[in-house]
Amino acid sequence: AVEVAGLTKRYGEQPILSSLDLTVRVGEVVALLGPSGSGKSTLLRCINRLETWQDGTVRVGGRRLGFRADGRPVGPRVLAEERADVGVGMVFQSFNLFGHLSALENVAGPLRWVHGLSRLDAERRARALLERVGLAHRADALPRHLSGGQQQRVAIARALAPNPSVLLLDEPTSALDPELVGEVLEVIRRLAVEDGLTMIISTHQVRFADEVADRVVILGGGAIAEEGPAHEVLRHPKNPLTARFLRAMS
Ligand code: ATP
Ligand code: MG
Repeated sequence: AVEVAGLTKRYGEQPILSSLDLTVRVGEVVALLGPSGSGKSTLLRCINRLETWQDGTVRVGGRRLGFRADGRPVGPRVLAEERADVGVGMVFQSFNLFGHLSALENVAGPLRWVHGLSRLDAERRARALLERVGLAHRADALPRHLSGGQQQRVAIARALAPNPSVLLLDEPTSALDPELVGEVLEVIRRLAVEDGLTMIISTHQVRFADEVADRVVILGGGAIAEEGPAHEVLRHPKNPLTARFLRAMS
C-alpha cells in the first residue's frame, strides 16, 4: 500500500534521509520510532507529498502522488484530488484544525470542498465520525473550546472522513498534557484493530507502539536502523544504537 524506494531527502546540504526503503502492506500498522531529528516527520510528510525530495520514489496505493508524467510537480488542487483518489490522510502533532470552524464543520467542510458531498451528506457523515471518536456532544464547539485531546480526536475524525485506506499519524499525542494522551491512544488503538486501514504512526510512546503496531521501524542516521515485529525489536534490539535509544525512552 505504501512503497518508499531509495528516498533521499536533504534540507540544503543537510542529509535527512539517505536512500531509505520502506514497504508497508495493506492493513499493516507500523510504528515509526527514532530519536528527535531522525526524520520521522520528514518521512511521513514525503509519503503524503507535503515535501519534495532529491531522489527516490514514493508510491501510495500504487501511485506516485503529486508528479506529472514529465516529473514536474502538480498544483495544490490536483494534489488534494490525488490524495483523495488514493485515499491517504494525515494527522499532525499540532492538530491543524480550522480555528474559526466548529468541530462538525472541521470534519464536514473538506468533504464538501474537496470531495464534493452535499452539505446534508457531509454533516451526516461528520456527525457519525464525531460519534465514533466520542465527541458527538461537542459537535458545535470551536476548537479553542475543546481540550487538546478532544481537538486531536476531531482531527482524527476529519482525517477519516473521506474513508482513507492509508492514515499517517505524526506524533499524535506529543502536544497533549499527559492526562489527555490515553483518550487519543484509545481511539487510534480501535482504528488499528479495525481491518483494512493501513497506518504509519510516528510516536515516542514505546508501550503504545508495542500494543498496536504489527511492525516497529526505528530510524537513525538517515536510514532504518532496525525493524521487525514490535515484540522482537522492542525487547531484543540487535542494533546497539536502537538498544541505547530504547533504554533512553523507557
Ligand atoms: P521529532 O521526534 O523531534 O519530531 P523527527 O524525527 O520528526 O523529530 P524531522 O522533523 O523529520 O525529525 O527532522 C529531521 C531533520 O530535518 C532535523 O534535523 C530537522 O532540523 C530538519 N528539518 C526538518 N524540517 C526542516 C525544514 N523545513 N528546513 C530545514 N531543516 C528541516
Ligand atoms: Mg517529528
